Amino acid sequence: MAETRTEISALGEFGLIQKLNKGIKNKLPDTITGIGDDAAVIDLGDEYGLLTTDMLLEGVHFDLTFFPLKHLGYKAIAVNVSDIAAMNGTPHQVTVSLALSNRFSVEAVAELYEGIKLACSDFNVDLVGGDTSSSRSGLFISVTVFGKVAKDKITYRHTAKPHDLLCVTGDLGGAYLGLQLLEREKQVFLANPNMQPELDGKDYVIQRQLRPEARMDVVYELAEAGVIPTAMIDLSDGLASDLLHICAQSGVGALVFEDKLPVDEQTYLAATELNIGPVTAALNGGEDYELLFTVPQNAYDKIKNNPKITIVGYITDQKGEVLLHTNADNRVPITAQGWT
Ligand code: ADP
Ligand code: MG
Repeated sequence: MAETRTEISALGEFGLIQKLNKGIKNKLPDTITGIGDDAAVIDLGDEYGLLTTDMLLEGVHFDLTFFPLKHLGYKAIAVNVSDIAAMNGTPHQVTVSLALSNRFSVEAVAELYEGIKLACSDFNVDLVGGDTSSSRSGLFISVTVFGKVAKDKITYRHTAKPHDLLCVTGDLGGAYLGLQLLEREKQVFLANPNMQPELDGKDYVIQRQLRPEARMDVVYELAEAGVIPTAMIDLSDGLASDLLHICAQSGVGALVFEDKLPVDEQTYLAATELNIGPVTAALNGGEDYELLFTVPQNAYDKIKNNPKITIVGYITDQKGEVLLHTNADNRVPITAQGWT
């Protein structure tokens, strides 16, 4: 009898994670939250511990023809710290695991580590361990971060409330357009190695792709302003996909205003040049690593003057209705077109 074979693509990333973890029940009393948020939450007594891991694979997450190793090292740490930020926590320790093919020299790995060390210094974390192995092909980096957060300051994905303001940090869509530009230049280079890349005036979007920051600065600023978000997630898959997570897990809806979406001028120009809608890039472009969060309306005065924060809409009690109010005054459903 032939066994059934289901393609992973039939489930998608989130479907697969759900299926594999179905029936997993946490037994330990100090496991507060397991799978399903940006980090696991562990009861440490006085405060909560936060644990998160993410891997980066050559050929899947990065292309070394245009990704400098130092930037890659920085990004590997930053994207993990970003998940701690999304819990309103502070990162403390990291471990780094590497698998390297014989294509890499000691000098190349040292360069990767320059970026890792710089990120550890920028985010004030200690690199306390890891693992190193050989790989048949390509480079594999896996990072785990341990962080902490006060019990009354933790922000989950599942706690957004109707009428909360929906806020985003920084600007959106840049990392995706940076990637599109780098890939276009790679194709040009492969076709004609004498061509010089045309990336003048595109430094910002390129940097958004190659050297993302975790928004710990905003976590600290919110704390200083006395604001505890009601819910928060970091934007790894794009606003659409990540807002859908908040809404689904909180049992709420949301209304986002197209004219409020923060898009940098370089992002806008690159989108136009590449024939990609800037709003599509802002909603569905991944890897910006900004924070998407909700606050009660009475926090408005405390955030309104922070130039790093834009209010893009609000949460509604219409469960499952996540809508974009377009500039043409239509309301259309926001759907996830993130990666699988
Ligand atoms: P993020 O983008 O914030 O890193 P993911 O979308 O990667 O989050 O993961 C969503 C949730 O699923 C997280 O809680 C993560 O820990 C969990 N998860 C992902 N892959 C696995 C796996 N193979 N086994 C168990 N849990 C997983
Ligand atoms: Mg995340």
